[in-house]
Amino acid sequence: MLAQRINALLPQTQCTKCGYQGCEPYAQAIASEGAAINRCPPGGEAGIAALAQLLQLPVIALDTDCGAHQLLQVAVIDEQFCIGCTLCIQACPVDAIIGASKLMHTVLPEQCTGCDLCVAPCPVDCISMVPVIPQRSWTSQDAARARAYFEARQRRLAKGPESLRQSPEFGDSAAVIAHHSTTHDTPEVGSPDHSDKQQAIARALARARARRAVRQTS
Ligand code: SF4
Ligand code: SF4
Ligand code: SF4
Repeated sequence: MLAQRINALLPQTQCTKCGYQGCEPYAQAIASEGAAINRCPPGGEAGIAALAQLLQLPVIALDTDCGAHQLLQVAVIDEQFCIGCTLCIQACPVDAIIGASKLMHTVLPEQCTGCDLCVAPCPVDCISMVPVIPQRSWTSQDAARARAYFEARQRRLAKGPESLRQSPEFGDSAAVIAHHSTTHDTPEVGSPDHSDKQQAIARALARARARRAVRQTS
């Protein structure tokens, strides 16, 4: 099926920058609706060339309205500011973030595709995108891994929102979460650590509000 062959050429970050709800919907739109082949910033020129060759179409420039092509990035959480709201976990299409409600969260860099979908929902602006070191572009191996993680998440969600998180390489992530919880104890209310945490959260919230205020006035 043509859509499947097109999807096999896409980066599988599920970032939605193409204007579709993921790589497969974009592939279907190219195959059946004649959507342009230049709407995938992660794929960049190489991706456009591969699609053009498959579909016997001319190579065209990336539509920068969808975003600029960038080298591969990974999300990093500034854990001292994380308030454990879980919004980033809900946004991540490949289950690359571990944590639990009111506990700090961490990105599994091996699993992160650099889609940046977790950045905007974070209420305290504590997620940053940083280049993968050594810097490099997306590869078909990255795409295969991303697709495996995405499909594992889809299977988990199909079982219900409370089902255990499974990943092709990490197995039962619930075990990882349990480990994470026990190795990063939450300070008791009233203790000096708790007070520090509260102050850190207050500072982070103030910082985020200031950033938003600047964005809104610029
Ligand atoms: S990786 Fe490309 S095709 Fe996939 S969702 Fe992102 S922009 Fe769309
Ligand atoms: S951690 Fe963030 S950037 Fe990485 S895959 Fe998940 S949502 Fe995308
Ligand atoms: S969205 Fe931000 S504050 Fe909320 S759990 Fe994720 S990193 Fe922490």
